[in-house]
Order: sequence, then structure tokens, then C-alpha cells
Amino acid sequence: MAYSYEAPVSQTLFDRASLVTPGGVNSPVRAFRAVGGTPRFMVSGKGPYLTDADGREYVDLVCSWGPMILGHAHPEVIAAVQDAVARGTSFGTPGEGEVALAEEIVARIEPVEQVRLVSSGTEATMSAIRLARGFTGRAKVVKFAGCYHGHVDALLAAAGSGVATFGLPDTPGVTGAQAGDTIVLPYNDLEAVRAAFAAQPGEIACVITEASPGNMGVVPPLDGFNAGLKEICAADGALYISDEVMTGFRTSKAGWYGIDGVRPDLMTFGKVMGGGFPAAAFGGRADVMAHLAPAGPVYQAGTLSGNPIATAAGLAQLRLLDDAAYAKVDAVSAELRSLVGEAFTKEGVAHTVSAASNMFSVFFTDEPVRDYEGAKKQEAFRFTAFFHSMLEQGVYLPPSAFESWFVSTAHDARALERIAAALPAAARAASEAVA
Ligand code: PLP
Repeated sequence: MAYSYEAPVSQTLFDRASLVTPGGVNSPVRAFRAVGGTPRFMVSGKGPYLTDADGREYVDLVCSWGPMILGHAHPEVIAAVQDAVARGTSFGTPGEGEVALAEEIVARIEPVEQVRLVSSGTEATMSAIRLARGFTGRAKVVKFAGCYHGHVDALLAAAGSGVATFGLPDTPGVTGAQAGDTIVLPYNDLEAVRAAFAAQPGEIACVITEASPGNMGVVPPLDGFNAGLKEICAADGALYISDEVMTGFRTSKAGWYGIDGVRPDLMTFGKVMGGGFPAAAFGGRADVMAHLAPAGPVYQAGTLSGNPIATAAGLAQLRLLDDAAYAKVDAVSAELRSLVGEAFTKEGVAHTVSAASNMFSVFFTDEPVRDYEGAKKQEAFRFTAFFHSMLEQGVYLPPSAFESWFVSTAHDARALERIAAALPAAARAASEAVA
């Protein structure tokens, strides 16, 4: 199939969108700001493919930023949604679907004794932090530079300000008061965590970390890092919160917990558990969750929490995610990683393919990356050239060098062949790129 680089229908839609929506998108990562050009407006998806408004088909390596682990429009997920939607879209009462989804989560992830459903990963982390503060009676929160936990005010504080330990707000609109109790530390640095706890004993409510970060590119925890966090938290009476919004139900049946076995006090989930609908959750120790309203005093609520369509989609997707499904996703990822690595090696492009289970990204450096500072040292301009060449050849990558690539059970031999065919020219474009 030939690909023209023009996207006139997407361009027209983007022009319309830009008049009525800031930046033309409803979530900044969807714009092509980091790579330039016009975002593609997608009209349909089937299996590993997306079709844009200009009628072009792409192999999708974004998978809606993680959720679509069975590919697009999986027949059993669609059937579950159709069945649910025919019975009504929202009741504002408890329903059996929410119970079944909560039971599925509790059954899969042993540290989760109780779980509360919400509608987005942001809500999950925001609520988990509030609960940790309510439970411990402490104010301070430790997070790591380069970890993203949604657009929660207190968690948008990030390093880079030069005085990161004071949690200076990283975006206008977040006040010093909102960010002032946030302590931002370098990722994978247990000494920094020990020092923070030593400097303010008994004041830190929780440490929140991505179970294995995928929001600065894929930067897995060093051996013993998560276990060290847990130990430091336990010694001080703080809670260890593992954010599995991205890794949960993706990196294994029990998410990253299924890989490293470090038992968090609280965990957050989203993406895969919603089957492409807005469903997310937080859960963990029953004694902590008992502090949540109406059982306890920490307030948290949501008009559409546990929505019947979202829970039906999530449950259908989770029930299809058995060992064989994870083996398939892992195998697709491994094959793709080796194709990508070979293509860059052939063109002499300095690169590191960084993986955590089936999540991976490419850093344009041959230095190992273990934190956000390291990730930022890559030659990101090479990604821009690579991205546009792949897009032109019908492969849809995340439009940023700092995002994980995602594959699904639907990425079959044909899809991989199409990617393999596109890689040589794209790797050449990366090698020829200039800053
Ligand atoms: N936590 C992590 C690790 C994420 O990757 C994200 C989103 O990418 C979130 C939280 C926020 O989730 P949402 O976009 O559903 O609010």
C-alpha cells in the first residue's frame, strides 16, 4: 500500500478542532507537538490496525496508550459492550458488573484486598494519595522525577526546577501550597529516598512510584529498588503506593506485582482494566481502604464510577487475558524489539531498546538509562525523523521519544512484516537526522 504524506481530511478536522478546543486535542499527548505535523484523526480500529479520516491504515503501536491489549474491536469485548448498553448506560446505583470487576482484580492481585472503582488513572492516584494522607495523618508525598501519575495537582511537581526537593509547581495553575508537600526525588536512587525520610521522620504519608516507569520512556526499576522503597516506608510508618495504571494487567496477569512480588500498601490501576472505556481503580490493604467513605471518613466519590458499560468492557477484556494471551503479547514485543534494534544497528544509530516485560521504548543513546536525567540526554531529534518515516509508511508510533510503545495479542505476522518493511528507511532517516 502506498502512503501519501498528506492528510487533508485530518488537517481539516484539526483546523476545526483548534477553533473549539485548546490545541485541537482533548489530551496533550495526542497532538504532534513533540514531533511536528498534523495529528491523525482516527475513524476506526480493527485488530492491530487503525484507519484515519483520510482512509489510510496504520499498524498501531500506541494501542490507545496501553488499554487495547487485545487489539481494536475485539469481538468478545464488543459483544459484552453491546449486551450491557442495550440494558441502559448508567443507573447511579450499585450493579453486579462492578462487583464482578472488583472480584476479578482482587483475585488477580494478591495485595489488593479491597478496591474502589473510579473513571480515570488520575482519579485513582489522586484518591490513593488522599487516602494515604487521611490514614497516616501526615501531609508529605514522595514522587520521582519522570514518573507521571496523571494530572493531579500535587503530582505535577517534578524535578527540573533546580530546587526539586521543595516541590516547586511545574505548571501554572498549581499553587505552591498544592505542590509544597511534594518531595521530588531522582528515580532509582534509594539513597535519596533514605535521606528524605531521615530529614523529615514521621512526616511523609506515602511514596508513590510507577511500578515500572513508562512515562519517561521505559525505565525499569533497578533490582531491589521497589523492595527498598517498601522497606523504607514500612520502617517510617509511611505507605508504599505502586502506580500500576500503565503496567497493571499488561506486564503480566498480576501486572508488575506479578513480576517483582513487592507488596504495596496501595495500588492504582486504569488503562487495560477498562477495555477501552473510562474505568480505573485503587485498592490495597483492607485496613487502609476501610478509611474510605462511606466505611470511613476519607471522602471519595464519582457519578459514573463503576459505570455498567465500562465495567462490562473491562471484565470481558480481563477474562480474555489468560497466560496464553500474555505469552503472545510478550512474544510480539520481543520480536519487534529485535527488529527495531537490528534496523538501528545496521544504520549505525546509537540506541538502547529499553524493555519492561512487553512494554518498551527506544532511547537514542547507547548509555544505559536509569532515570529521567539519563532519558533526557538522548538525541530525541532522531526520534522525530524516525517517527515521520514510520508514519508515512503506515506505522503509528507514540508521537514522543519519551513514551512506551504498546503491542497487543492482535499484532500478527502480517502486522510485524509491515513494521519490518518500514524500519530500514526509518532507521536511515534517524541516522541522517540533524539536531
Ligand atoms: N499513572 C500512570 C502510570 C499513567 O501512565 C497514567 C496515564 O498515562 C496515569 C496515571 C493517569 O491516567 P489517566 O490518563 O487515565 O488519568
